[in-house]
Amino acid sequence: MILQTQSVTKVFSGKTALENVSISVPRGSIYGLLGPNGAGKTTLIRMITQITAPDNGSIYFDGRLIQTNDIFSMGYLPEERGLYRKMKVGELALYLAQLKGLSKEIALIRLKKWFQLFEIEDWRNKKIEVLSKGMQQKLQFIVTVLHEPKLLIFDEPFSGFDPINAEKIKNEIIKLKNNGATVIFSTHNMASVEELCSHLTLINNGKDILSGEVNAIKKEFAGNMAKIILETPLDTISEKIPPAFLLCEQSRKGDLIELMVKMPQNASAYDLLSKLEGNIISYQLQLPSMNDIFITAVNSNNQQYASQN
Ligand code: ATP
Repeated sequence: MILQTQSVTKVFSGKTALENVSISVPRGSIYGLLGPNGAGKTTLIRMITQITAPDNGSIYFDGRLIQTNDIFSMGYLPEERGLYRKMKVGELALYLAQLKGLSKEIALIRLKKWFQLFEIEDWRNKKIEVLSKGMQQKLQFIVTVLHEPKLLIFDEPFSGFDPINAEKIKNEIIKLKNNGATVIFSTHNMASVEELCSHLTLINNGKDILSGEVNAIKKEFAGNMAKIILETPLDTISEKIPPAFLLCEQSRKGDLIELMVKMPQNASAYDLLSKLEGNIISYQLQLPSMNDIFITAVNSNNQQYASQN
């Protein structure tokens, strides 16, 4: 694990923003930090990046208690972004790179590469205030990753970008991960979680209510609906379905038949497939979307919370 929080708690003037939150971020993962507005995601990120300290609990980085210097091994792109408006693009980027510990020479080489990649070279001598919001975001992304930190934390990295630039940022995040970085990112965009995250934690009302590998979470939340594609005559199919199974849909797809079958609890795929005649092309348990999982988990946790208070 590159990062672990153990039972971290944060209270702001009597209001508990986070309570006993534990996350374990595997090295090399893309880790989603999800939760409704006000759940406590930013508070957790601010403790990891040592902007605030937990009131209780511990944070471990690289296998030992986190230290002040670890901030140089992290890159953080906050949701609230602000750059010094009167400075020139190139000067500001160089200044921020040097704050992260890069020498001037290395910073200039890396900046050249990133400015070319994001097509903002022509803006190097312009003041920040004349950049569009998207260009400013590109610049902030660049200064977040420039010192090649082990751990990158992005808060809503795609907000404010058009679809082409969002795709570019997404591809760069994947490249950074492939080059060995670990990425934590907080977002309300479930499609990007589906696409990018291998692991996640869902926070609600200041507590971690769901954590782990995305695939395992999907299986845990899977209903018992199976999709089967097979070659067989359509008219006899309903007779072949065992009594405890419910045939919900059947349709013809060219020469093939597609069935949606609700399985009883504890039934195995074999119980069904062994009774069907014909050539079975595929069997797939239907997995819920991250959007469905988010809504189901948060609603059920809110109901529990309401009944306890
Ligand atoms: P969003 O998705 O809306 O960005 P979030 O999950 O990041 O929300 P946080 O910003 O961590 O949520 O806020 C968690 C709770 O802590 C909220 O109730 C917020 O009002 C409160 N909070 C956060 N920072 C402070 C602060 N400095 N002082 C007082 N309360 C705070």
